Amino acid sequence: MIVTRFAPSPTGYLHVGNVRTALIAWLHARKSGGKFILRIDDTDTKRSKQEYTDQILRDLEWLGMTWDDIQHQSARLERYEDAKQRLIADERLYPCYESQEELEVKKKILLNRNLPPIYDRGALKLTPEQRQELEAKGTMPHWRFFLKDSEITWHDGVRGDLHFQAKNLSDPVLIRADGSMTYSLASVVDDIDFGVNYIIRGEDHISNSAIHVQMFEALGGQAPNFAHISLLKSKDSGISKRTGGFDIKTLRELGVQPMAICSMLAKMGSSDNIEYRESMEELIAEFSLEKYSKAPVIYDQADLERLNAKMVRAMSFDSIKPTLAAIGADNISPDFWNVARANISNVNDIKEWHHICLDEISPVIKDQNFTNQAAELLPEGEWSVETWNEWIAKVKDVSGRKGKELFMPIRLALTGMEHGPELKDILPLIGRDKVTARLQGRKA
Ligand code: GLU
Repeated sequence: MIVTRFAPSPTGYLHVGNVRTALIAWLHARKSGGKFILRIDDTDTKRSKQEYTDQILRDLEWLGMTWDDIQHQSARLERYEDAKQRLIADERLYPCYESQEELEVKKKILLNRNLPPIYDRGALKLTPEQRQELEAKGTMPHWRFFLKDSEITWHDGVRGDLHFQAKNLSDPVLIRADGSMTYSLASVVDDIDFGVNYIIRGEDHISNSAIHVQMFEALGGQAPNFAHISLLKSKDSGISKRTGGFDIKTLRELGVQPMAICSMLAKMGSSDNIEYRESMEELIAEFSLEKYSKAPVIYDQADLERLNAKMVRAMSFDSIKPTLAAIGADNISPDFWNVARANISNVNDIKEWHHICLDEISPVIKDQNFTNQAAELLPEGEWSVETWNEWIAKVKDVSGRKGKELFMPIRLALTGMEHGPELKDILPLIGRDKVTARLQGRKA
């Protein structure tokens, strides 16, 4: 059974890049009837915030990604301490005392000689007395993981066969001098403890994965399968928590439908066409990790907005109903929705329609005689989208007005605004009583 996970750090809001990783892992688990674990990487106490964790859970739920288990790293510090002690006992974790400056100098010397800037393991040459002396002077050690000289290989789910020579990598720091952990130790311990056997994450983690392969073995586990997906890039910058505007919270506030986001993110960078899907079930049915390529993926918010517009226009009343309720537009009828949806690109636009057609508004009257006259000419019988043409032709004939002189006083009386939806569409939705009252200058 495939067990996979999504491991966000609660140091900001989820953005489209994070969500694409989460979604691909989620689809992989759901497609195979496997398990999807949500792991909150909250060991960085300075930058992690409860508010972000809460929002991450809300966003994933809203997008329709359910998890089978949730774990918080901050509750597992003892486990990481045990693992640290085990690695020390097995001589896979060793103390180092170089300052940042010393390390920089070492690096520069190697680079100047055209050599790769790999850590020289100088700390391994220290005698116990030298170490004691350094510590007595107040130099606290940071701890590095000892990489065994070997070839590290795996068959990556997206990138095919990958090969690394451990001797070309620096022994990674797992524990900083202040005692805090870097991300790798907790991540590997958790992946072992939770039985994760398929890790899907961004390509920025490839070299971490090479190191993790040896760490899994050193901690008595077995390296899982890996798939490294390419990172999303926006047209003009990278996508990160710091750039802003790409986060799910903002997209949600903008009125973008969750399935528009999921459809887009699930299909980008894959061999499938980008089209909207109405349900996660459809995305699951069409999913296969093999469809993803390692080429860079360019994200353009305009594409998402277009897909969202297409989707909103095609949505049935029943499927949009919960969203209408959430934005306080739940007294909209199926007929109302069917007219409005063809004219909006975003569900938030319906708020304006709702306001104009169903709320009580104060008309703006430019010429009361003219709008009174227009009210008298309103057609009898049942109204439809054809009613406007019939009516306005009569008003034009009788008043002799045309163009802006004809339309603007009517628009202002009916909507109170200079711009808005087509009058022919909203006339039947506002209805005879309100239309008559507004033309006569009454609040309605
Ligand atoms: N918290 C890590 C990150 O957001 C997790 C990476 C991983 O999936 O192992 O980059």
